Amino acid sequence: MTTKQSPQALNDTVIKNGYCVGCGACAIPERSPFKMVMDDYGQYQSVLKNSDIFATTQSDYEKICPFGSGALNEDEIAKQHFSETCKHNDQVGYYSGVFAGHVSEGDFRKQGSSGGMGSWVLNELLSKGLVDYVVHVKSENADVNLHNLPFKYQVSATLDETQKGGKSRYYPIELSEVLKEVKNKPGRYVVVGLPCFIKSIRLLQAQEPILAERIRYCVGLVCGHLKSAHYAQSLAWQMGITPQELEGIDFRAKDPSQPANRYNTYVKGHSAEKVVLTNQLFGTDWGAGAFKYKACDFCDDVFAETADIALGDAWLPEYVQDGNGTNVVVTRNQDVQQLITNALAEGRLAMDDLPVEKAVQSQDAGLRHRRIGIIDRLAFEAEAGHWVPAKRIKMTHRANPGLENEKQRLRVKMRELSHESFNLAKVRSDINVYVKSMMPVYTKYKRLGVSLKSRLKSKLKRLFYGN
Ligand SMILES: Cc1cc2nc3c(=O)[nH]c(=O)nc-3n(C[C@H](O)[C@H](O)[C@H](O)COP(=O)(O)OP(=O)(O)OC[C@H]3O[C@@H](n4cnc5c(N)ncnc54)[C@H](O)[C@@H]3O)c2cc1C
Repeated sequence: MTTKQSPQALNDTVIKNGYCVGCGACAIPERSPFKMVMDDYGQYQSVLKNSDIFATTQSDYEKICPFGSGALNEDEIAKQHFSETCKHNDQVGYYSGVFAGHVSEGDFRKQGSSGGMGSWVLNELLSKGLVDYVVHVKSENADVNLHNLPFKYQVSATLDETQKGGKSRYYPIELSEVLKEVKNKPGRYVVVGLPCFIKSIRLLQAQEPILAERIRYCVGLVCGHLKSAHYAQSLAWQMGITPQELEGIDFRAKDPSQPANRYNTYVKGHSAEKVVLTNQLFGTDWGAGAFKYKACDFCDDVFAETADIALGDAWLPEYVQDGNGTNVVVTRNQDVQQLITNALAEGRLAMDDLPVEKAVQSQDAGLRHRRIGIIDRLAFEAEAGHWVPAKRIKMTHRANPGLENEKQRLRVKMRELSHESFNLAKVRSDINVYVKSMMPVYTKYKRLGVSLKSRLKSKLKRLFYGN
């Protein structure tokens, strides 16, 4: 047992080096010396509040943190849960079923960001009596307006309450408050979360039997990365609503007449509401990674590999034209798989079976960033003599060649610059401070993308036609 050293060690490695993803797991154990705070960048971060408590805490914090040195990795956790019933794919993790489709019943699809499966699975587990409570992310004021800020993890006990928690919230959230509620209130729960958050839950369950007993299912979201609160503010500000005025946001307002990837951003201020096509707003290119948590650049789990089911967008040519939204779905748990099979037979879901390679294809860009680009990003940190979290990738892998390596440098630069320049923009009350700081780096990054593409084309030409 490493009780005394463990909080300090976590603080000196993960937290001090910027790898805290703000999940809140370390603040959950009894007498935890950690608390969650929103930092100046608009990200939840763990803070070591009191070293006197070390003597009384019983938890091993390095084993709870998803980036902690003592934590099992995603493969090791997933193997314990799914290896007996599932097949395995390198990029997707374990899987029993792989689908693309949407919910046909009710308003799930209309009210969801993609095909509506997120809220549907939670509802189905509740209505079929497999859980008593749903732990999900919704507006604190969902009764007034579903999109009102702030969004936070909450417990729902009815189908009506669950349905108010639809939509992807590209916004900081943390688990410590809600999981303390779970510990205090007996019952069976399902939790929805990003890959690293679900990993935290699995790690917590290994140390806290009460959470192992109560959290019966984990629903994972496929993940590109998590954004700070300033991402929402930056979008609204470009639409004429200042950070002080911003009351609510829908990051994924659908336009069924357009392809699924041409969605809108809806914002609500004190006295106005606005809707703009998202890709017309600066900073919405996910590859560029504005307002990304640093930790996300050091996570290699795209398909929420430790969750019972993973849900994302089917970014595939066959489905992207449908602006109503289509999910990619990976099942790993037999109960969840059965719910889907039954609902398909009853016509409540419309799903196609997918070869697992298609699921991989649907997240091509995210996987390249997380699984290939990570080699360079780890190398940058190691070169600078910084501590890095242990990853599944072996550091004996060679760094990527020239332009790819440069692309990763520019992505890191944009991540850092977005946080800093937006704070300066706030001080100067001028959104252009942020846009103008970012633009030269972003332009360079886009030019590099063009060079990389044309190199790839020439390579393919040579391959197929010779010379
Ligand atoms: C930060 C983030 C990054 C993502 N990146 C990708 C990606 O790169 N590729 C991809 O295909 N899909 C990604 N997704 C998932 C995608 O946006 C949809 O959430 C997913 O397809 C489910 O859509 P749906 O219509 O089925 O769910 P809905 O019916 O809209 O339900 C969504 C569920 O997710 C919960 N939720 C919303 N925001 C959060 C959050 N921040 N943390 C935890 N739970 C939340 C809601 O409470 C709700 O239960 C991301 C989601 C988030 C939040």
